[in-house]
Amino acid sequence: MSTIRECPLSGKKVILAPERLHRPIDFATSSQVDDDLTLCPFERGSESTTPDEIFSLKDQSGEWITRVVPNRYHALSIEEYKHSTREGFYNCQTGLGAHEVIIETPIHSLNMDHYTIEQYKAYLKTIISRIKDLHEDMRLEYIQVFKNHGLKAGATLKHPHSQIIATAFIPPHIDRQIERYRDYYQRYRRPLLLDIVHEELHAGKRIVYEDETFVAFTPYASSFAFEVMIAPKVQISSIEEISAMQKSNLSHALKEVYKALYGVLGEFDFNMLFFNAPPYRDHVRADYFHQMEQFFTFYIQITPRIYTLAGYELSTDMQINPITPENAAQKLQQERNR
Ligand SMILES: [Zn+2]
Repeated sequence: MSTIRECPLSGKKVILAPERLHRPIDFATSSQVDDDLTLCPFERGSESTTPDEIFSLKDQSGEWITRVVPNRYHALSIEEYKHSTREGFYNCQTGLGAHEVIIETPIHSLNMDHYTIEQYKAYLKTIISRIKDLHEDMRLEYIQVFKNHGLKAGATLKHPHSQIIATAFIPPHIDRQIERYRDYYQRYRRPLLLDIVHEELHAGKRIVYEDETFVAFTPYASSFAFEVMIAPKVQISSIEEISAMQKSNLSHALKEVYKALYGVLGEFDFNMLFFNAPPYRDHVRADYFHQMEQFFTFYIQITPRIYTLAGYELSTDMQINPITPENAAQKLQQERNR
């Protein structure tokens, strides 16, 4: 059973998840898994080795193309009840939440630069469907979708997959970002991220890709080398709001960004993070959600994990990035124009 503890010194929360201790570290034996795909739980034909399926998309022949299952080594449990308690000086709460795995494709060794546009669309459709469903559980206050690719990014299985962790609280890091979005909106009546996008389009020197709905750029204060942000040009507060046309555009944007990243970096480890406005919960804090859909803009962040975090980063929460975002964008642009 997991618990969530809060650090009085930093305000940070930690999920203590003893179940995670038992998960297999497949990268230690990744060459073995590559040789013998019967060892991979995410292959077609190995469905019985995962917990019961929550969702899947199927092709015309009835074979799954994406599949969602509960994480066997879950950090949080949907069967928990929500309860906060004091433990002497400290605060802790029960580990209520959802932890799901999205198996993105039946193909074991497929990098995202080789996904077809149809695969990207299926991937996005799967994410959106799960977010919508988790919205229905009123106990859940925040839904984080993310992908870990490679050992340096924290992945323990090679088969392409993403994860969803939904919590019964808004994580402090997201809460701080919401405050920044809100402050800016109250001052200027515009969403902060749309003004950033406007500035990036105007400056032009950090742009990686652009179409009529989305723009990909290396953020001005990138924490990671070759970090890329994909953001909409119009106000969209959460990915489940995007139209079919916008989904198609986002698929193209992702494909082009990954092609450029793989072209410049070769095989690389990365995290991909989806930032969405939290689902509306008026029974929690009605004023908190006031105008959220006007100021919180959805975006995707891709952070290559070329360098590992060290003491300074851990102590200060400040990254040292050896490559300017302008230089990174130029290299990615050159790759795209090649
Ligand atoms: Zn596999």
